[in-house]
Amino acid sequence: MKRNSEKGSVSDKLMPAPKRVPHWSKGLLESMEDPNMIVVTDDRIVMIRDKYPKATHHYLVLPRDDIHSLRALNGSHTQLLSHMLEVARDFVSQLSGPKLDFQYGFHASASMAQLHMHVISRDFDSVHLKTKRHWNTFTTEFFMDAQTILSALEETGTIELFDRGKCDLLLKTSLRCHVCAEELPTMPKLKIHIKKHIPK
Ligand code: AMP
Ligand code: ZN
Repeated sequence: MKRNSEKGSVSDKLMPAPKRVPHWSKGLLESMEDPNMIVVTDDRIVMIRDKYPKATHHYLVLPRDDIHSLRALNGSHTQLLSHMLEVARDFVSQLSGPKLDFQYGFHASASMAQLHMHVISRDFDSVHLKTKRHWNTFTTEFFMDAQTILSALEETGTIELFDRGKCDLLLKTSLRCHVCAEELPTMPKLKIHIKKHIPK
């Protein structure tokens, strides 16, 4: 006769096996499969909405090929990068509403897995943009312009990346308006200040 402890508990019998929750850093890979997040797709790339947009418009362009980060890029990726930029610029050119400036590029040290190019309007008007870190990832050299990266890959086949120390320093840079360069003491003051540069 089996003892009770060998039969398993009632909850073991009724509950389905726990679903494996992917690590948060794999979130972009999930969003690449989510029709509600996709704005453009083709055989080489997927362009998705950023889940926590840091401006009025904020998208991410990801290659379908398994490319983990900027570190994996070399001269063989120039056509892919050029295509990512072309798709993004084309998408932006068809947006309706007030004409906003955009920037296209990569964070020097990304937190999420799978290479992703940010496509973001430069109003930075968003409730999700909260911290000095957020601000500096888009408005200092930490934001690596995609066209500059493409040119470097075409000319030398490599990209010069920053080490951890340089990234940390860039993220601690004092707060400065990206349009007029005025220095602001706090994020709330900066957020009020930048509103005056947003085209009506
Ligand atoms: P980074 O890795 O620093 O270049 O930035 C990752 C970006 O992904 C951030 O702008 C986040 O708001 C965004 N993000 C985080 N999780 C998701 C997700 N599951 N789907 C779409 N975007 C995401
Ligand atoms: Zn300003």
